[in-house]
Amino acid sequence: MSDSAISQLVRPLVREMAPYRSARDEFEDFEAQKIFLDANENPYNTEVNRYPDPLQRRLKRILAKVKGVSADQILLGNGSDEVLDLVFRTFCEPGQDEVILLPPTYGMYGVLAQLNNIKAINVPLDDNFQLDIAAIMSSINENTKVIFVCSPNNPSGNAIPFEQIEILLNRFKGLVVVDEAYIDFSEQRSALSLLETYPKLMICQTLSKAYGLAGIRLGIGFANPEIIDFFNKIKPPYNVNVLTQKMALASLNALALVERQVKTLIEERQKMERELPAFGFVKKIYPSDANFLLIQVDDAQKRYDQFLEQGIVVRNRSSLLGCENTLRITIGTPEENITFINVCKSIDQ
Ligand SMILES: *Cc1c(COP(=O)(O)O)cnc(C)c1O
Repeated sequence: MSDSAISQLVRPLVREMAPYRSARDEFEDFEAQKIFLDANENPYNTEVNRYPDPLQRRLKRILAKVKGVSADQILLGNGSDEVLDLVFRTFCEPGQDEVILLPPTYGMYGVLAQLNNIKAINVPLDDNFQLDIAAIMSSINENTKVIFVCSPNNPSGNAIPFEQIEILLNRFKGLVVVDEAYIDFSEQRSALSLLETYPKLMICQTLSKAYGLAGIRLGIGFANPEIIDFFNKIKPPYNVNVLTQKMALASLNALALVERQVKTLIEERQKMERELPAFGFVKKIYPSDANFLLIQVDDAQKRYDQFLEQGIVVRNRSSLLGCENTLRITIGTPEENITFINVCKSIDQ
């Protein structure tokens, strides 16, 4: 085992343990024309009677091509949630290590920190929901393993400028995780272009938002191959099922549809950004690089209830730091958005 900077960052237990070896690890060529009597499967074909490829090689090959990376820089998980959980389980020693979170942000980082018994240091974003680099740097200590940056950020919608992420990568010795769940809706290019330069950068993406596949649960992690190897060592062997791999492949082979939908959703967001300021109850619209808008209103609970009464479910984000009286509105189809605007008119008094 190497004693590289990355392997020093990994939990000793993960570095030293022997991985579980499944039948499909012992004999990897799962597409071979063979008689498979090695995994106690039912031999009668149901399309799903065989275990999935534990390393999802076909899917990674096409994903690598689409994203401009190599297949050994990719980890796939049962949603981003599993990918993020693997970050904790690989790098963070329970009861000892710490991570830095930048609220208001995605709630799962904090939940996973708690679940894994890892102390989360919260360093609030500034008034424009941007990084406070000085405060982040002064919160780092020898036990800080990971900084989670969400860009575009959920719930605020704004992207974090590249240069800011690079400052963290240059100054912090641990892992910087950039969660790009909404990157397909963003003007800013993906941090994937920084992957070759920074060995301790990890990027998370997902098929749950732009690709319209939230139901299949496919999360993607991109990182240095050495990091990916550690994840592969400890992940559940068959964590991405056959049906998910199949649907993901179909979607990646029909990207034109996704691209059209993304273009429409961005135009619809821009339309909403133009129309919403006309309403008296809307106090502020935060800049968005995502498929949702965070708006500040006069009375979030009252407006939430009024939308619900009219059959529209939005998200009240008022309980989050710096988000008093805000609602998060996902961009719907053009028809749904017209209905939403009409409801805004009807409740605006
Ligand atoms: C929606 C979202 C995800 C996606 O999670 P999945 O488990 O892949 O569905 C990840 N990160 C952020 C910030 C999100 O808003």
